[in-house]
Amino acid sequence: MGLDNLHGPIPKVEVHSTVKAYKEKEGRYRLRGVRCDDCGEIWFPRRFVCPKCQSTHLSPYLCARTGRIITSWVDTMGFPAIGYEDIDERVVAMIRLDDGVTVIGEIADCHAEVPKDTPVEMVIRAQKRDDTGNLMYGFKFVCI
Ligand SMILES: [Zn+2]
Repeated sequence: MGLDNLHGPIPKVEVHSTVKAYKEKEGRYRLRGVRCDDCGEIWFPRRFVCPKCQSTHLSPYLCARTGRIITSWVDTMGFPAIGYEDIDERVVAMIRLDDGVTVIGEIADCHAEVPKDTPVEMVIRAQKRDDTGNLMYGFKFVCI
C-alpha cells in the first residue's frame, strides 16, 4: 500500500460490540476458560486449540474467583481510547488466581496502585461502551 491511499477508509483495529461480548459471556461474567484433556493445561480466555500440545480436546474450566495481586498500575490512557471516553483513569492489575491462572483485569473502586499480594475477589462491573454507546459489563476485581 502506497502513500496515495492516505485518504481511504481508516481501518478499525478492534470492534466493540455487544454481540461479540454476548458470545464471550461465560468468560466475561464467570471467568470460564478451558482445560486441555490431553496435557491438563488451563487457558483463559478460552481457546479452541491447546497452544501447548495442539489438541482440540478442551473442556470448560471455571477459574477461581479470588486471587492475589502480582503487580498493578494506574492506566491514565492519555487519550480517549475507543469505549473509554468517559473514564479518566483506571487501575489495572496482573492477578494470580488461587488456582494458578494469571489474568489481567481492572481494580474497581480504587484510584492508586495496590500493593503486591493484596487479596482480591472477582465482581461484575460496567467496563466500557461498545460502538453503539451501550455499556458493556465484565469482570473486575475488588480488594478484600
Ligand atoms: Zn494441551
